[in-house]
Amino acid sequence: MSGRPARSGGPDPLDLLAVSDLLSDEERLIGATVRRFADDRIRPHIGDWFEQGVFPARELAPELGALGLLGMHLDGYGCTGSSAVAYGVACLELEAADSGLRSFVSVQGSLAMRAIHAFGSEEQKQQWLPGMAAGRTIGCFALTEPDFGSDPAGMRTTARRKGTDWVLSGSKMWITNGSIADVAVVWAQTEEGVRGFLVPSGTRGFTAQDIHGKLSLRASVTSELAFDEVVLPADAVLPGVTGLRGPLSCLNEARFGILWGTVGAARDCYASALDYAKSRVQFGRPIAAFQLTQEKLVEMALKLEQAYLVAWRVGRLKDEGKSRAAHVSFGKLNNVRSALEIARSARTVLGANGVTTAYPVLRHANNLESVLTYEGTSEIHTLVLGEAITGEAAYQ
Ligand code: FAD
Repeated sequence: MSGRPARSGGPDPLDLLAVSDLLSDEERLIGATVRRFADDRIRPHIGDWFEQGVFPARELAPELGALGLLGMHLDGYGCTGSSAVAYGVACLELEAADSGLRSFVSVQGSLAMRAIHAFGSEEQKQQWLPGMAAGRTIGCFALTEPDFGSDPAGMRTTARRKGTDWVLSGSKMWITNGSIADVAVVWAQTEEGVRGFLVPSGTRGFTAQDIHGKLSLRASVTSELAFDEVVLPADAVLPGVTGLRGPLSCLNEARFGILWGTVGAARDCYASALDYAKSRVQFGRPIAAFQLTQEKLVEMALKLEQAYLVAWRVGRLKDEGKSRAAHVSFGKLNNVRSALEIARSARTVLGANGVTTAYPVLRHANNLESVLTYEGTSEIHTLVLGEAITGEAAYQ
């Protein structure tokens, strides 16, 4: 993943099994480019943004667009059409900087743009996708409601027909990019089943309010959306899908970005702990020289490489057209869990310094608590895998 050998000629401590060698030259180049962007544009500021609870989306979106990172794995309409693994590597480098940055890119590309790309009319695609790919237009994806998170089938937001129009009523909760989005992809119950609607900001009756008090993903906008008898034209509905299959297929795409991204957050925590351990002296020796510290670092290195291998394998399966929902659940469950364990252990290596924003470890650990919950909680992914293994569904 890039690192320096501890001894000349020895393995890269940040990539002990040289998993990066499994990537193509192009995939490595994309990783290096995104890493440079994150080092220049994100790392110098992210501690402050996290502390202040801000994310300068309008400023960053065109830069992310210019790098081809928005809707990167989609074809046409200004999108890059990259491989799944290339997209994964980009997510890894984005989340190494901050999960909030990767969340922005995931929501824009894998959720909002993916929904329009997969289920939109040609006119809807032409209207929205080029601007979203360029980062001029921001999107959000509104599925979760105050009373329906893991179980979206019970959603109360409705859309009913009125002549040729639709009337949308209800509310959505925990919506990333909600208050800054130019267009919201909103999932609502209709007479025919769940359908997706494109709701431009400023539409009469549509309001968004930010959720405050988050101790996680602070450098990310999260909002509550309200729809008070919002009248939408007939062509606001996504014509290509009816039923929960629509939103769930988008979530599967976003989870793929997460299972890669969390490898980045984990690497950043481990790298921080390793650097710190080598320079911090206690009892007359660098703390890296103590066996207990070494055990922590080795455990981190093992978990990191295992997660990287899982991401690589799921990515290759996806590029070969063989990826199933259970593969993505495997990756999300395993990699978020491993990243959290690495972040918490890294925090202990940094002692008191580990609880500040001067170092990334507690910021990552706190962010990863949201990542553990969104896009399917760890319990739900356990149930998905349980069903895949036993053939028995245990959700209810
Ligand atoms: P609940 O579903 O109420 O779950 C609470 C607990 O019960 C969890 O531990 C869960 O695993 C467990 N549980 C639930 N059902 C079962 C079961 N059958 N068996 C065992 N355990 C169970 N949503 C969007 O639509 N768009 C977004 O952009 C978005 N962004 C988000 C950003 C952040 C920062 C956060 C925190 C959330 C975001 N979400 C978004 C919402 C997220 O997807 C939901 O929080 C998630 O689906 C879980 O729903 P919930 O919080 O209502 O928890």
